[in-house]
Amino acid sequence: MTEILQETDFKKAKLQSAEIVLKYQNFNPKKAKNIHKCGDWLEFAKKENIQTLEQKLKLQNADFCRERYCPMCLSRKSKKLAVEFYSVLKHIEAQNKVRYIFVTFTVKNPLIVDLRATVNHINQSFKRMKETKRFKNSILGYLRSTEFMGSKTPEGEAHPHFHCLFVVPAKYFDTKHKLYIKQDEWREMWQKALRVDYLPSVDVKIIRPKKDASDPIASAIAETVKYPIKSEYLTKMSDEDFEELNYQTKGLRVLATGGVIKEALKKLKLDLEDDTDLIHFSKQEDEIWRLIEILRYEFENGDYRLKEIKPPARENEEQKNARPHTR
Ligand SMILES: [Zn+2]
Repeated sequence: MTEILQETDFKKAKLQSAEIVLKYQNFNPKKAKNIHKCGDWLEFAKKENIQTLEQKLKLQNADFCRERYCPMCLSRKSKKLAVEFYSVLKHIEAQNKVRYIFVTFTVKNPLIVDLRATVNHINQSFKRMKETKRFKNSILGYLRSTEFMGSKTPEGEAHPHFHCLFVVPAKYFDTKHKLYIKQDEWREMWQKALRVDYLPSVDVKIIRPKKDASDPIASAIAETVKYPIKSEYLTKMSDEDFEELNYQTKGLRVLATGGVIKEALKKLKLDLEDDTDLIHFSKQEDEIWRLIEILRYEFENGDYRLKEIKPPARENEEQKNARPHTR
């Protein structure tokens, strides 16, 4: 039984974790230990579609550490966000005819020691911008995520910026309604909100529903909703900057919502930043899938290797007995 797990996301995260663990060992051995152990074993339910006989593996048990900068947990949070946000947009589209735009708001790079103050400043600035008439008239709702670093951020600096998915009415693009906000105007609005004397850079992308795509929401999400912190950036940082980043961002929230998105989240009882369950994402389980068996993989010598196959009946017994020997 040395079959290797085909799904590679877990392995990729686990290998990135090794680099992050080294960084934490310098200043926080406890976090290093947590991240090192995170996702050491994974249990998947092997399921079969009773109509098509197609088979799939679904994660059903694991031990995740939930540390903010753990690559494994970041990868799970990112998936969770995509799944939950999908249902949010579906919910909105069922009631309104909407379109989406994706806007990135940037400020001049602060020193990394000033990151927290700068994040507070851009949060306040965004608040000012969203209170303007122009914004309120054109934007129905938003998901805003905060990133702290970029791929080319020089050492000693940070690159805080917002990625925003804006829900706009379908008539937003119809010039006679005067709702459309051009890039230049976004820059002016953002400058005014920031109260700075330079024109900040703002990037605007219109998400076009692909004509042949059966599901335009899915492509919008794939393009735009990524979890704020990319572990690739973290592994590239110097040890000193990484330690400072931890200090500067402690407790900061990285996601914010407003308007129709906020309302939909409330209605669907979802909290996009809740990381208490990083195993199951969607609450509704398809009934057409039949559980065949449970596969347990353990991370060993750089790969997830199949260690145990359990029949579903036995798994149920174990759940009753509080999983005596699976940990
Ligand atoms: Zn973790």
